[in-house]
Amino acid sequence: MPQSTDFALVEAEVPDPAEGQMLIRNAFVSVDPYMRGRMNDVRSYVPPFALGEPLTGGAVGRVVASRNGRFDEGSWVVHNLGWRELALSAGDGLLAFDPAVAPVSTALGVLGMPGLTAYVGLLDVGRPEEGETVYVSGAAGAVGSVVGQIAKLRGCRVIGSAGSPEKVAWLRELGFDEAFDYHEVPAHEALTEGVDLYFDNVGGPTLEAALSALRMRGRVVACGAISQYNATAPTPGPPNLFLVVTKRLRIEGFIVSDHFDRMPAFLAEVGPWVQDGSVRYRETVVDGIENAPAALIGLLTGENVGKMLVKVGPGHE
Ligand code: NDP
Repeated sequence: MPQSTDFALVEAEVPDPAEGQMLIRNAFVSVDPYMRGRMNDVRSYVPPFALGEPLTGGAVGRVVASRNGRFDEGSWVVHNLGWRELALSAGDGLLAFDPAVAPVSTALGVLGMPGLTAYVGLLDVGRPEEGETVYVSGAAGAVGSVVGQIAKLRGCRVIGSAGSPEKVAWLRELGFDEAFDYHEVPAHEALTEGVDLYFDNVGGPTLEAALSALRMRGRVVACGAISQYNATAPTPGPPNLFLVVTKRLRIEGFIVSDHFDRMPAFLAEVGPWVQDGSVRYRETVVDGIENAPAALIGLLTGENVGKMLVKVGPGHE
């Protein structure tokens, strides 16, 4: 588990933008579970964080000075320069965000990377059919809450698990058919009915329970394994893996960054659902860049309901 002493807050001079650059005043920076993986010095799908450098990651802010022809002063942009109050950018990898669509914070949550993860993971990888039963773990989080609601909109029966009574109550409000607190009832006891599709955010014993609950030709969408991100020793695989053979299961992992081409389709479909309330979201907002480490540690210990964010500057008033 990361400690606050693993982080340092540093002040630096911010130069004026050079030709082609712009200065962005961040409103929100994102804390995400994959950031924990980037703290391990191992080869993975993204390089580890460099010691002594600011953490890169999702952020949304307003252009306050621009010498870049593509983004004017005053426009809102989503970028990947991470944990900082001000960011100097030449525009690489920047996306415009229209604050008329939804509050700018949603660019990092329900209408951003986590929302897209839910969308492509559920629909492209899981491919649910109307009437099927979908089980999602980490269901009150940024990804899981969107998975459950899209599955409901697609005519599925939805079961969700999360780590507190408050989270379970929210899942019921969102229209989940069943919801349970895995601290009170372990998944292997709670999953009494058959499941056709398991959206796995947590791994570990929950994955084992889901393999047992899956029906013939069921599918597992392997999205994350947060129960293992702080493990201090190798974690055992599910002992019932042979069920994959006997029940003809399909387990498929995915990484959202391979699917950024689906962003326009995602925004076209989920944007209106957010606007008309068919997809609801919550955010847990921690104030101040100095509290970003606490927010990340809080995310790993389940303090967030919905998307965990750090507010570091003025939003869209
Ligand atoms: P969440 O908003 O769901 O926040 C993390 C949550 O994980 C916590 O609130 C906590 O909720 C839960 N958690 C923490 N420890 C455990 C544990 N030991 N067992 C079970 N649950 C635990 O995060 P995201 O929605 O951003 O991410 C959800 C998952 O999706 C993560 O595994 C992440 O790595 C993965 N992901 C994968 C992507 C991909 O491209 N494949 C992209 C984005 C995310 P609780 O109180 O319920 O325990």
